[in-house]
Amino acid sequence: MTNIEIKELLEELGVILNGHFLLTSGKHSPTFLQCSQLFQHPEHTQKLAKALAEKFSNTEAEVVIGPAMGGIILSYELARQLGLKAMYAEKDKDNGMVFRRGFKLTPGTKVLIVEDAVSTGGSVKKVMDACHKAELEIVGVGILVDRSAGQVNLHPNQHSLLSMEIPAYDPADCSLCQQNMSLTHPKDLSM
Ligand SMILES: [Zn+2]
Repeated sequence: MTNIEIKELLEELGVILNGHFLLTSGKHSPTFLQCSQLFQHPEHTQKLAKALAEKFSNTEAEVVIGPAMGGIILSYELARQLGLKAMYAEKDKDNGMVFRRGFKLTPGTKVLIVEDAVSTGGSVKKVMDACHKAELEIVGVGILVDRSAGQVNLHPNQHSLLSMEIPAYDPADCSLCQQNMSLTHPKDLSM
């Protein structure tokens, strides 16, 4: 799949929304990402996960791990395609990430970390911390949509399916406000 095909599919599925959005940071943006829109379609999820999995065909991983919630379905589908185990990490009370549910990870286990969308990479970093604590070996990081346009570098073997810059404007400098375009709040999208 080419970058244009991936982007068009994500727009068609409502993963990439174009308009005028209020971000949690208070800034305004012409683009909003809603990755769960993809995961309601198993056939499209399979297709995009395959394209991402191909980038790790030479990576010797044993387990694919994603942060809950965004990384659960993606880690499962990548693991299915690569013939590996799938697990997920969850938020703990200190706002870090931990492995629960009786997931058994012995020191030295080779781990591929995946996430649906990354802007600063915060969740992925927390999963990496949890992996380091458990003495696991991180062999790669896979991202469906890198909203930082390649600015976030978490691992030497890091690949994203789509890399795009998502602009954010101060409300005072927002050209969409100046065009009187109505502003969409995240709650309008039932976030
Ligand atoms: Zn605006």
